[in-house]
Formats: sequence, structure tokens, C-alpha cells
Amino acid sequence: MKITHPFTDRFPGDNTLNPHQRQTPGLLYSLVAPLEFPDAKLLGFNQELATQLHLSRTETEALTQGIYPKEVQPYATAYAGHQFGNWAGQLGDGRAIFLGETETEDGPLELQWKGIGATPYSRHADGRAVLRSSVREYLMSEAIYRLGIPGTRALALAATGDKVVRDIMYDGNPKEEPGAVIVRTAESFIRFGHFEFLTATNDVALLQDLADWCITRYFFEVENNGVEKYLNWFRAVAERTAEMIVGWYRVGFVHGVMNTDNMSILGLTIDYGPFSMLDAYDLNFTPNTTDLPGRRYSFGRQANIAHWNLYQLANAIFPLIKDQEALQQVLDEYGINFWKKYDRMMADKLGLDEPREADTQLFTDWQKMMDNLRPDYTLFFTALESFEPGVDVLTHFGNSFYAAPTKEQRQELENFLQNYLKRKQSNAFSASESRSLMQRSNPKFILRNYQLYEAIRQLENGDDAYFQKLWEALQTPYEERYPELCQKKPDWADGMAGCGMLSCSS
Ligand code: AMP
Ligand code: MG
Repeated sequence: MKITHPFTDRFPGDNTLNPHQRQTPGLLYSLVAPLEFPDAKLLGFNQELATQLHLSRTETEALTQGIYPKEVQPYATAYAGHQFGNWAGQLGDGRAIFLGETETEDGPLELQWKGIGATPYSRHADGRAVLRSSVREYLMSEAIYRLGIPGTRALALAATGDKVVRDIMYDGNPKEEPGAVIVRTAESFIRFGHFEFLTATNDVALLQDLADWCITRYFFEVENNGVEKYLNWFRAVAERTAEMIVGWYRVGFVHGVMNTDNMSILGLTIDYGPFSMLDAYDLNFTPNTTDLPGRRYSFGRQANIAHWNLYQLANAIFPLIKDQEALQQVLDEYGINFWKKYDRMMADKLGLDEPREADTQLFTDWQKMMDNLRPDYTLFFTALESFEPGVDVLTHFGNSFYAAPTKEQRQELENFLQNYLKRKQSNAFSASESRSLMQRSNPKFILRNYQLYEAIRQLENGDDAYFQKLWEALQTPYEERYPELCQKKPDWADGMAGCGMLSCSS
């Protein structure tokens, strides 16, 4: 693996290696010195990704120990952002450190450590990561990738062998926890927040440079000339964002912290914190305890929040376009475009051909029924795949219920199924085509928070069997490779911290 640094070669930064936390206006990065973890041991090794990067297991483990090739110049980048709807000013890579970029057969990839020490952007925190949050990112990022949704990937997870102190419930009871580090990759880790940072510091020349860099390197679909270039790019960002969010709705992913600093400009799922896959269908569900007062980042609001975040990006890149109406038009198109993609995705999940006007009612009824009945989102579709007229509905869908349906809920379900079967009669797809579409669109295995909780608990006790089994299962999410892992959330996990909701503490 040969590492280069096109980003730091191109943009202004602070090369002094000054470790102090500070504001760096006008500079996009600072060189930093990562920690060393001589006792770090690999817990997870992504063989496929390592092969793509031409890395052996031993070389990968060395990286997690903070040992790296001498051409590597580690750096952290500066960005800003809106957190929970409020301007938060400068943020930056507080516990992510770049190694640089490397070529692969599928194009260049950036490499980052997460949890290898403080940077100028750590804002009084330690730049470290605990085992639980690292296991969650390591497994979930690969799960999202295997589900076919764009996202960053993790190359390795290692226990550092030392302890990190965290106040997990934010109640004044800090505890020592095992430390960990991951190495992760993405085509680019650039976020909406990088552009917000440059606009906030009035750095229009640099803003333009960074936009040009993105367009040339990552947005081949954008015509790279003419006055419309930046507007077309913004349209492409909105398009990719919509694509990602529709993917999240398809599989039931709730990100939990959709701050603008956690929005990838490439439309990648990034920064895995207090996320959750849906167990019971619930539009109001947020996995983030910090989000509870407003449920800003709940499942059902993710499409609107992405729109709000795009609005912040529009403000940030306004100096390049200077046409409020044109930007507003792209934002309006996002709404239309999103619902078009959403309807197509719903049709896929239901095994239907091109969505028709009347399908809007079917989809709305489905959503209302689901939100009232609250069955397991994934298991509901598993049951729907094999549903046929004449079967006993309560028995057939029984597996997916968390509580016995009331009379009204049952009626709603039966009404939906009746309309669904009616719609299927005029489906352009044959029964087997329809079923195969459903099988490709509805995962059988999703990585549930209670499973992550269990894997972490066992890993902390030195047993990695369950963790490895989850890693295996998530490789083929559209197959029922391990039926025992394709069950609804068990009762014991109800209301248990870490199994449903989580704090941001990581
Ligand atoms: P998040 O919302 O978790 O993506 O984090 C928001 C900001 O806080 C980012 O700038 C992170 O780099 C920073 N941050 C989060 N946790 C830590 C930590 N343990 N040490 C340093 N910075 C952190
Ligand atoms: Mg973040």
C-alpha cells in the first residue's frame, strides 16, 4: 500500500504539529501525531477490504498500534456544523486522524483511524474511543455496505489494551472502559460541515477550491465547466443524499445524529454513533437519548432533516452561486425527487411494478397501519413475502407482533392486505418476479442494537464467538443464514440501555 496526501498537498494547513486545541480559520487541516498502542490486538479484520488495499493482517494490526509507513503524514481536518439545529461553530476531526489516500482497483480511498488520540479539534475531549462504540461502528458500517447503501467502511477493529474513562449515562459516574481503535475508509470523508466552516470564516476562494476538488474528483456526473457547475453539483449532492436516505428507510436505519457535520458530501452513511435499526415500526423512534426532548432525528423525520441540512449547505455554497432562487429550486426538487424514489422503494418492498397514482393511498394506508400496529419492520416483510390469500392473518404475521393486535389494528392490517392483493392482480410482474424483487429489497438479517449489546458484553469478557457470527451474518443480509439471528428483539432487551436507546458517549 502506497499512501499519498493529495488533500494536504492541495490545501492550506498548519504543519507545526502543535497539539493544542484551537481555532484554525483559513486552514483546512493540521498535522498531528497519533498515539501509539503497542499492545493493540485485532478483534476484527476485514479481509476483503484489506485485499483491496493490498494489506496483510500483520500490516493492518500494526496500523492499529499506531505504527505506519514513513511516508504517512497524519492529519486532522477542520469543519464546522449545525448540531441539533443550532450553529455550533468550528468542530473538526476530534478523534479521527487521516493516514492519507491510497489507490485501489476501484479508485482511491482515504484511510482514517478513529480513536487514536486528540487533535486540535478535540474540544477538550481525549480523542479516544471505547470498545462498545468501536464495535458498533465496525459492524454497522459493514452491514450498511452489504445492504447496498453507500457508506464508509471499516478495515479493522482493535482493542488498545488500555482504559478510557467515560460517563456513559451523563450522570456524574465516570467509569473506566476498555479502549479501542478502528481504521476506516471512504472515497472521501468531506462533510457538509467543511463548506460551512469556510463560509463562516468568509473564505470564498478556499470554498471554491474545495468545491472544485470535490467536483473533479468525486462527481463525474457533474459537467465540469460553465457557470452552472456549482449548481449542478449541489443538485448532485441532493440526489445522492436522497438516495442514501431512501436506502435508510428501506432497511429501517435510524442514524440518530444527523448534524450537518455528520453529513457526507458524497452521500455516504458516516459517523456511527447512537444509531439503531428499527425493531418495531415507529416513525417517532429515535435511538439517541440526547435527542429525546424534540425527537429531531427520529426515523420518520430523516427525510426532512436531510432537506434542512441541504438548506444549510445551500447557504454555505451561496457565495459560489449567488442565485437564491436557483438554489431554492434545487431544494424544492429534492422534495419531489425524494418522494419519487421513496415510492419506487416502497413498490420494491411490496413487489410491485411502477408506482401508480392510486398507490400513494396504498402506501399511506400501509404506513398508518404499521405505525398503529408497530410490528417488527423486518419480520413484517419476511411474512409478507410468503403471504397468500386465504391464510390466517394473525398466525401468518404472528412472528412480527410485539403485542397482540387489538380488534382495530387487526382490521387495519386485513384491509391493507386486501387492497394489496387487489393491486397485485394488475401487477406487471409475475408472481415469481414480484417475489424475487421483494427478496432483493427486504433484508432477512438486520444488525439489531440488542445483538450489538450482546456482542460487546461477550467481547468485554474475552469471547468473540458471537461478534464473529454477527460479522458472518451481516455479509449476506438478504439470506437467512442464521435463523436464530433473524428474530425480533427479545423481551429481556426491552428498555435496557444500549439495546434500544443510547447516549452519545463514545
Ligand atoms: P459526533 O456528533 O459524535 O460525530 O461528534 C461531534 C464532534 O465532537 C466532532 O467534531 C467529533 O470529532 C468530536 N468528538 C466526539 N467525541 C470525541 C472524543 N472522544 N474526543 C474528541 N473529540 C470528540
Ligand atoms: Mg461526527
